[in-house]
Amino acid sequence: MERTSNEPNDPAISLWRDNVNLTRRSFVALSAAAAAASALEAKILGQQTHEDGVPWHQKIRRAGQVNITEHDPAVLNVTEWADYFASLKCDVVFASVTGIVAFYPSKVPFHRPSPYLNGRDFTGELVAAAKKRNMHVIARFSPDLNWGDAVEAHPEWFRRDEEGRAVPAEEEPLLYHTCLFTTYMTEHIPAIMREVNSRYEIDGIFTNAWPYIGQLPPCYCDVCRTLPAFGSVAYWDKYTERIVELWKLWDGIAKEKSPNNLYFGNMGGSIESGPNMMALKGVAQWYNCDNQGRGGEAAPIWGCTLQGRVCDAILDGHTATNVTASYCTGKPRWRNIHKSTQEAQMWMNETVASGMVPWYHFVGAEEGLGADRRWHEPGREFFDWLAQHDAHFTNKQTIADVAVVMGQRTQRFYRSAELGDPMMNIHGIYYALLEGRFLFDFLHEEDLVTDKVKKYKTLILPNLALLSDAECAAIAAFAQNGGSVMASFETSLFDEKNRRRSDFGLAELFGVHVAGERRTRIGNGFMGRIERRDHPLLAGFDDTDWLPGAQFLLPLKPVADPVMTVIPPFVNYPPELAFPKVEKTDMPDLIAKENGSSRLVYFAGDIERTSWQSGNTDLSRLLRNAITWVTHGEAPVKVEGTGLVESFAWETQAGFAVHVLNYTNPAAFKGYIREFYPIGEQRVTMAIPDGRKVSRVQLLRAGRDVQFDANSGTLRFTIPTVLDYEVAAVYA
Ligand SMILES: [Zn+2]
Repeated sequence: MERTSNEPNDPAISLWRDNVNLTRRSFVALSAAAAAASALEAKILGQQTHEDGVPWHQKIRRAGQVNITEHDPAVLNVTEWADYFASLKCDVVFASVTGIVAFYPSKVPFHRPSPYLNGRDFTGELVAAAKKRNMHVIARFSPDLNWGDAVEAHPEWFRRDEEGRAVPAEEEPLLYHTCLFTTYMTEHIPAIMREVNSRYEIDGIFTNAWPYIGQLPPCYCDVCRTLPAFGSVAYWDKYTERIVELWKLWDGIAKEKSPNNLYFGNMGGSIESGPNMMALKGVAQWYNCDNQGRGGEAAPIWGCTLQGRVCDAILDGHTATNVTASYCTGKPRWRNIHKSTQEAQMWMNETVASGMVPWYHFVGAEEGLGADRRWHEPGREFFDWLAQHDAHFTNKQTIADVAVVMGQRTQRFYRSAELGDPMMNIHGIYYALLEGRFLFDFLHEEDLVTDKVKKYKTLILPNLALLSDAECAAIAAFAQNGGSVMASFETSLFDEKNRRRSDFGLAELFGVHVAGERRTRIGNGFMGRIERRDHPLLAGFDDTDWLPGAQFLLPLKPVADPVMTVIPPFVNYPPELAFPKVEKTDMPDLIAKENGSSRLVYFAGDIERTSWQSGNTDLSRLLRNAITWVTHGEAPVKVEGTGLVESFAWETQAGFAVHVLNYTNPAAFKGYIREFYPIGEQRVTMAIPDGRKVSRVQLLRAGRDVQFDANSGTLRFTIPTVLDYEVAAVYA
């Protein structure tokens, strides 16, 4: 047994020795994934640029940006700007070039200079000031808009409506939207990029507002009229092809300057991202998430970690940055006013907890560096703290053996007015996973057929409607090899082209067969009648025979031994009629099967979406019970205690790190956070792989060590309290 403590007399520190059911098997998978990590290293070595073989852009820890306005050349204090970001220990800052307004005397036609330049080379001054302070500089472009005179001279560059009219910007009618399928992107923007390459010692090129986040708006220009129908799978394929083509073109231009330079785009939108993210594998070395924060709308606080999980799923360890707006996001916006410091801080906490690099952002620099200077100090404090602990934020891989298959195609194409926003489904399962304190990853559905799936012991398919035959076969093979699978509703009912199958693609695996079309009823939802009272899926439901079902149900043919059967829905009002008209059905509502270590659960209703929409706690409990059962109650890391938290565990450069984000806050589901409320003891249990010896556990936010107990491969320690965020750094 090893023990250590720097504060042995602290009564708040206690060792925790309860029996925790936890497994070390996950670390076998962990070693397999380590092989994938060294493959990445080898790939990066192939483009060696630094003494340690890792290019500079794969090592950045902090990014800073003032988004330059047209007026800033008249008011921004360049020295103050550069000193500020140097004080944040930023590796990289952004100098605006743009495309809408030129911040230098450009010779490219239709690259209109800011009227406040007065002959200055503002871009050049920013680049020089940042370089003098040893920061990398990225040239920021905005290829999405240009002015009316360009529409006259180059009508072919612009997005058109159905009547063929150029489409003006939403807020500024003198500006018009360009179209990404036109020569604006292959001739005009490259001309500016090459001009900037020739003038400045930049390290890379970034395009704002491109690719589009979420659905690309329809365009009826001459090129777009030749493309497949807007919104079709075939159109999406063309769109993705174009993104990859332009990404490669612009990255090639960046590398004309130096092989160490790169191009990267502005993405985000988490699962709703524009192109097929898998197509950018091997192309994108840096993925920026334009995911700047919440406003006052009803939105869960985990919007940033959700994005981080997507990046971890698709990037194979390459750089992902996430922008935190320090200005007021939401509706209306205030671009020049600092938002709640606590809200911005939680967004940065989430950024680093989920493995991304923070990018601190403000718009406009009136009076030198903003008339509202309240944004300066929060960024400096957070980045300064981060800079003290880089080794603990330099991640190798997550420690998790549960994967939620994220379904980019489902998100994009499985849409109907009655089911509403497909993100409700994701938030429903996400909330249950957090309430149950499960550690999990996202897995892109196209990775089901790759070795990536070998890291996991459990797959969760939350109404994952679109799956190819090959993906279905991979899921079946996963279960055959002892893996557990949990699914719901119309999972696998559609193929990858969004064509409905006559039966589930996973019918054989779950032993379920479709018996009709999706059903619902306004008023009461479906209910489930308990048939197997002793089943662990029903733990905690002792004093009831009925449970809520879901709003929508897919009728299934009868099966042997269902855990629950369907009680059909009925009238909500008048209450005189609010009772089931049918006493008993043989239609399955919940099915559980076991085959060796492989456990299978299938919900016939859209339980995740209904759980989110209704806020029903029974539904969330059913989901948690199901995840507990399919995982055999085992996990490589457990964080136990009270409060709504999100946890991550990483293998890091220094050993391991366990991150705990405290969402126990009245603003968890509607911004902004106004104040943080501390939670009590969080007990951590973690399997330590053979050959690793724990020498120290340090709480990076509290700034002190804690005692730990590392016995026969299991590490135990207690985090006494968490205000907004804590990181337990495990030296091993
Ligand atoms: Zn077009």
